[in-house]
Amino acid sequence: MTDDVNIYDCIVIGGGHAGAEAAHAAAKIGAKTMLLTISKDTIAKASCNPAIGGIAKGQIVKEVDALGGLMGITTDATGIQFRLLNRSKGAAVQSPRAQIDKYKYSAYIRNLLEQTENLTIIEGMAAEILVDGNQVRGVVCTDGRVFNCGAAIVTTGTFLKGIMHTGTKQWAGGRLDEPASNELSDCLRKLGLDVQRLKTGTPARLDAKTIDYDKTEVQYGDEKPSPFSFLTDSITRKQIPCWITYTNEKIHKLLLDNMDRAPLYTGQIKTTGPRYCPSIETKIMRFADKTRHQVFLEPEDEEQRTIYCNGISTSVPEDVQDQMIKLMAGTENARIVHYAYAIEYDYCPAIQLKPSLETRKIKGLFLAGQINGTSGYEEAAGQGLMAGINAARLLDNKEPIVLGRHQAYIGVMVDDLLTREIDEPYRMFTSRAEWRMSLRSDNADKRLTQIGRDVGLVDDLRWARFQQTIEQSERLAEFLKNTRKAGKALWDYLKQPQNPFYHEIIQMPEISEMGVRADVIESVMTDAKYEGYLAKEEKAVENYQKDEKLKLPENIDYDKVEHLRAEAKEKLKRFKPATLGQAGRVGGITPADIMIIQIHLRKNNARHRSD
Ligand SMILES: Cc1cc2nc3c(=O)[nH]c(=O)nc-3n(C[C@H](O)[C@H](O)[C@H](O)COP(=O)(O)OP(=O)(O)OC[C@H]3O[C@@H](n4cnc5c(N)ncnc54)[C@H](O)[C@@H]3O)c2cc1C
Repeated sequence: MTDDVNIYDCIVIGGGHAGAEAAHAAAKIGAKTMLLTISKDTIAKASCNPAIGGIAKGQIVKEVDALGGLMGITTDATGIQFRLLNRSKGAAVQSPRAQIDKYKYSAYIRNLLEQTENLTIIEGMAAEILVDGNQVRGVVCTDGRVFNCGAAIVTTGTFLKGIMHTGTKQWAGGRLDEPASNELSDCLRKLGLDVQRLKTGTPARLDAKTIDYDKTEVQYGDEKPSPFSFLTDSITRKQIPCWITYTNEKIHKLLLDNMDRAPLYTGQIKTTGPRYCPSIETKIMRFADKTRHQVFLEPEDEEQRTIYCNGISTSVPEDVQDQMIKLMAGTENARIVHYAYAIEYDYCPAIQLKPSLETRKIKGLFLAGQINGTSGYEEAAGQGLMAGINAARLLDNKEPIVLGRHQAYIGVMVDDLLTREIDEPYRMFTSRAEWRMSLRSDNADKRLTQIGRDVGLVDDLRWARFQQTIEQSERLAEFLKNTRKAGKALWDYLKQPQNPFYHEIIQMPEISEMGVRADVIESVMTDAKYEGYLAKEEKAVENYQKDEKLKLPENIDYDKVEHLRAEAKEKLKRFKPATLGQAGRVGGITPADIMIIQIHLRKNNARHRSD
């Protein structure tokens, strides 16, 4: 560790969801870390939806938690409405989601970071990354301050050359009322990184007191909220409802009449936004036959001062937004606190990264979060955590931690980012993972806590809790396998789709006497129920791992691979896959190409097997 005040092992630029996890992870592992961010007051700010989790994103939060990250415990501490999504569907696709008090969330993370040993938080805007040869050596701020470091993690979200749009109004900004970061973007270009542009948008916020809730439908959270953190026994904070209203034909006509002033349709916005999260003007164009769209009115804070209008993200002019709100049931007299806007920003296609999230060009320079072309707090947190771990390990001359597609949604995400062309902001879906049954939210600890412990992120408290989980799981599984009813093991009854004894089994006095936690019972029951599927997934994973272990030499010259198609050569030179398995997942690469590469490697005796 270094002692000089302006010398750090690792500097994290940006205190958003990626930056908070990165800084915490690097510092906790032992790197003297600085978090350089524009304002301490906006650490882990929810720029858009005041909610954490959701389909597949909830799994990422559980994984971040299992590895020792901050997002799960913070959501549990500041959540104001918890719901387990897809409750009626299979365990593989069930995901927790929570509305959070966005101010308390931000303050909670800031407080955790301020208490983290080895971590200093400094306010300022990074303008330049100093590089010696191809090695990071420091960061320069816009005010001229210089900080030295051996590794830097850039997590600047939507701030790089951000241009915001509301109607014909355009202005530079990184997020509502916050400045854009221009110099840093120029610096990344100068360092030789490919920089492209994407777009996203956010809806208006309303004054909660001015809404007529009687005209809306109420939506309550779960009676028994499911926590995000494996450390949380139960959620005690008071839960508050959301409300549902709808757009209508008058609103659709209003928007259609004003399409010539909508930046998305006038050519003012030239970049692509998330197709899975379209603006209201895109929805009415794309689904012209629909007479209404659902709008969730979600409180942004426990005191219910402001409401986020989930479902009507837009960039139409302010006067059109005023009329739209006036035409919607329940919001006729509502006051708009912040108008909706869209933002275009710079990002760096992640194919420039190694699986550790370090750039291939500059040693010690890592990128994580929205800057890699993703969207979402959870995706950002997952990448930030991995970048923090790997920056600290690089400084310690240790091999990076790369999670496989079979180990974590975080692994799926990083692998996707490295092997696919991104043409819209990337968000996680359960359908992106091939082994969903193994990547459940309830078993993230069993998949990842050992890794978190090995790298130095999981503290004694979490480790003790995990040991208890393992001990209880094994004891319960043994009981279920060894206890028979009508000659058949209870475990085998649990495998039946319509198991008539499910409730009878979980209510057995022997089980309650065992003192096994409810979450452990649920997880073991799920393992029993899906044992057959899990075994099939395990077999498929074995095959996947064979190709994953075949590392491709970094200096492989694809032009010299005989019989390889020209298109395959181009793709492989561009994506530079780290393993043979990854090469096979690059879009456009065929099994025949893979076979040709294998023959080439064998012939050149350059086949490297990892441990
Ligand atoms: C308008 C808008 C709409 C969005 N819509 C959606 C959506 O529909 N769905 C969705 O999933 N997500 C959406 N998001 C994205 C979500 O907010 C981000 O994905 C997530 O916050 C990304 O996390 P991050 O850590 O990468 O960046 P951010 O959370 O944006 O954090 C970036 C941090 O970097 C700091 N920073 C920036 N530049 C510098 C610099 N040069 N020096 C020091 N600090 C710097 C900033 O102050 C900030 O703290 C939206 C965001 C915005 C702004």
